[in-house]
Amino acid sequence: MNSFDFSLLEEGFTARDILEQKINEVSLSDDKDAFYVADLGDIVKKHIRWLKALPRVTPFYAVKCNDGKAIVKTIANLGAGFDCASKAEIQLIQNIGVQPERIIYANPYKQISEIKYAASCGVEKMTFDSEGELMKVAKNHPNAKLVLRIATDESKTVCQLNMKFGATLKTSRLLLEHAKELNIDVIGVSFHVGSDSRDPQTFVQAISDARCVFDMGAEFGFNMHLLDIGGGFPGSKNSRLNFEEVISVINLALDKYFPADSGVKIIAEPGRYYVASAFTLAVNVIAKKVMLTEQTGSHDEDDASKKTIMYYVNDGIHSSFNLISKFRMEMCIVRKKKSKPDEKLYSSSIWGPTCDADDRIIEQCDLPELQEGDWILFENMGAYTVVASSTFNGFQRPTLHYVMSRPHWQIMHTIQEHGTFPEVSELSDVHVSCVAKNRMELNSIACIV
Ligand SMILES: *Cc1c(COP(=O)(O)O)cnc(C)c1O
Repeated sequence: MNSFDFSLLEEGFTARDILEQKINEVSLSDDKDAFYVADLGDIVKKHIRWLKALPRVTPFYAVKCNDGKAIVKTIANLGAGFDCASKAEIQLIQNIGVQPERIIYANPYKQISEIKYAASCGVEKMTFDSEGELMKVAKNHPNAKLVLRIATDESKTVCQLNMKFGATLKTSRLLLEHAKELNIDVIGVSFHVGSDSRDPQTFVQAISDARCVFDMGAEFGFNMHLLDIGGGFPGSKNSRLNFEEVISVINLALDKYFPADSGVKIIAEPGRYYVASAFTLAVNVIAKKVMLTEQTGSHDEDDASKKTIMYYVNDGIHSSFNLISKFRMEMCIVRKKKSKPDEKLYSSSIWGPTCDADDRIIEQCDLPELQEGDWILFENMGAYTVVASSTFNGFQRPTLHYVMSRPHWQIMHTIQEHGTFPEVSELSDVHVSCVAKNRMELNSIACIV
């Protein structure tokens, strides 16, 4: 078993309790740095949910989404494979003891030295979508088992990729023909519908296109046996698209185009699905600026329409929010003052700490008035956050605190040792009483950006 640092949660405690405890601990000092609490048990839960929902599909976790040691070790212990896109990612995953068969090098454009590296360490599965790459691989990694990445319809995804990646069906035929001439093995087809796809039909179309390419492959004499349905599975608690909704559509399409007796192994490359909801980020309000707007003719001193508030917090777009377009934000406010039911809301914006004028996390949302020292929690912050953060302007990255409950830890062991998992319905989070006395008021406000 891979070992790594995390705190085992005492019975009855949740990751959220730990977060509140940390806030309470530092609230008396001046040192209120931003920090994360990451619940590794949430990853265990997600994995089991995956195995139940998509029994035919082996997950290959997309490392780029969050490459934290504790994260990849947890996922390795659970027996998943890995989607790596660079030499460094392959090294990271091999260094924790994962065999090369459990890795797919899923970047269609690779530097020659990195192709050679993959060849030297036994990583054979790799994706491609162009002639040039085919020739590079033929020369530098003749034993590679190539997976042809096809384009998908992405009119409905948030993050579009076809400009950069994916062959059309017509190009696929030419590529297969050329691969045959070069005597390179093409073992399957992959696609990636893009992150946070809004329409499961995109998967259906892509799976049916993949079927066409398998049939073309057979014409050229390839024995194709691997279908890789990529990533894009929702990972946050309140995503636009429900995971179960997406997968019921996918399972039907898989059974139609690649039935169990077709002998085709099916894998996927989920990234955000595994980690998004495991992380909560706590940032502190370090400063605020109140702006009075134009007189409106009203005489009410406190008139909300006269006041907008800018909050400055100690994390921003050069750190956790760098890939801000890749996730939706959900906030929750923690503050010293008790909230009143009829509390006024003010038009507010939230800004990062750097001198960059674009360092703004939230352009506009309505919030009750906050004070310096109050905390803002951002939930579902595990995907494309920590990995993209810099220390621009000298601001340090938030610290990370990993936690896991004992039952989840035991389940991880069981899965690793026996390959089976127990029923986990009883594992829904139990939230018990107070962690610390005088805890701050926790105010949930619905603000989804
Ligand atoms: C980024 C990426 C993924 C993971 O996407 P998620 O939306 O995080 O699931 C999977 N496959 C490929 C090829 C990727 O580039």
